[in-house]
Amino acid sequence: MIAIYPGSFDPVTYGHLDIIERAAKVVDELVIGVLVNSTKIPLFSREERVHLIEATTRHLPNVSVRTFEGLTIDFAKKNNAGLIIRGLRAVTDFETEMQIAQTNHSIEPSVDTMFFTTSLEYAYLSSTIVKEIANYGSDISKMVPAVVADALWAKKNGEDV
Ligand code: ADP
Repeated sequence: MIAIYPGSFDPVTYGHLDIIERAAKVVDELVIGVLVNSTKIPLFSREERVHLIEATTRHLPNVSVRTFEGLTIDFAKKNNAGLIIRGLRAVTDFETEMQIAQTNHSIEPSVDTMFFTTSLEYAYLSSTIVKEIANYGSDISKMVPAVVADALWAKKNGEDV
């Protein structure tokens, strides 16, 4: 079974990595899809986001990273994936995620969505929160791996990532 895990990953956090590690155990191949046409303007370029995910998932041999534009369901079909992986943090995630999953399933019934509930220690964690805390110079070492923290500090100082 091939699965895709789509998202913005701007940047990847321990919350994402927890979902990636758990999903990689139950599927044969996990393709992480970095969305590049989101309406949100990302802090990190597509290359930087891919690089940070690759650098933090090297220990997982069945995980790969690609970028995609357009519909998630088309990205799933292109990768011959039968599953879309998503993470659920709080009740607030549930409504939109359910809507997206049902829409995708009605467009392409051969593709299903599988949800992983967040591990409790990452329930509050989002890329947005990490960026905000980094912006104020506070400690983010419990939220993102060192390579991501370094990239955030570099961005803040206008240096190359
Ligand atoms: P998007 O912009 O598509 O929501 P994100 O990069 O924010 O992209 O998230 C990608 C996926 O990872 C989503 O399913 C989101 O719910 C999930 N996710 C993000 N942070 C966490 C976390 N801390 N715990 C569990 N799932 C998470």
